[in-house]
Amino acid sequence: MPQSLNTHEHSRSSAGLTYVYPVVSRRSGGVSIGINLNPNNACNWRCIYCQVPDLKLGSAPEIDLELLENELTGFLHELLHGSFMSERVPEGLRRINDIAISGNGEPTSASDFDSVVEVIGEVIDESELPLDVKLVLITNGSLVHKPHVREGLKKMASRNGEIWFKFDSATVEGRSRLNDTSISNERVRENLGIAASLCPTWLQTCMFQLDGNPPSRSEREAYIEFVSSMAKEVQGVLLYGLARKPLQPEAERLSPVSKEWMDAFGEEIKMAGLPVKIFF
Ligand code: SF4
Repeated sequence: MPQSLNTHEHSRSSAGLTYVYPVVSRRSGGVSIGINLNPNNACNWRCIYCQVPDLKLGSAPEIDLELLENELTGFLHELLHGSFMSERVPEGLRRINDIAISGNGEPTSASDFDSVVEVIGEVIDESELPLDVKLVLITNGSLVHKPHVREGLKKMASRNGEIWFKFDSATVEGRSRLNDTSISNERVRENLGIAASLCPTWLQTCMFQLDGNPPSRSEREAYIEFVSSMAKEVQGVLLYGLARKPLQPEAERLSPVSKEWMDAFGEEIKMAGLPVKIFF
């Protein structure tokens, strides 16, 4: 009897495949089909809350598009017609919510990202997936200006696509501290503008305490000023707490913010004119 998946099961290898893995989410009330383009655990950032084991600096390897197509076709067939749902997904969560391109690193670092989106679209066309199933890209947004990424985002838009664009801090210092990247404010703003012009885009923000302190007042003010300036371009903010244990050396220095803190920050974002969804 296969092991049942619980709502904390996010192991990329739980289906025994290279690129495709299931995530059962009580929050979204169903199953998300994950596409992991970074089986090498490589990312161009190193967020201190990252949950990728043995994370290393780098890019996605070349993607075996045929293998991806076969895995996704087979897994969708199993979800729609096989015993996976009844044997491994708790009752009440047996529906497919979305296909999410994310995984163990930055997915847009795959040099054939646009071909990946095309292959996923073709598999969707040939499947019996409900029309409202979304195609989500979870990205740090740092490579959105590259031509192959733009092409992929255009293709996503025609597939009920949605981008979740990582945005943890509006300052260079903050991103250096939290994401270990030196990306400039200009580049973040430009890339976010490109993403939002090509496909509906949500900001995805992780909030937590570092050494017992929540984000400082100046960080919060810079964040609100930035999101307020982008309010007409993005769909809103997905505000996350620390849901699972970080796997980076800083893990012991991180702790969750209180629910009150999160709610108050969510209110500030709403006052700035953006819808907010809080996942605590
Ligand atoms: S961008 Fe994502 S995969 Fe990369 S280090 Fe940050 S949390 Fe991890």
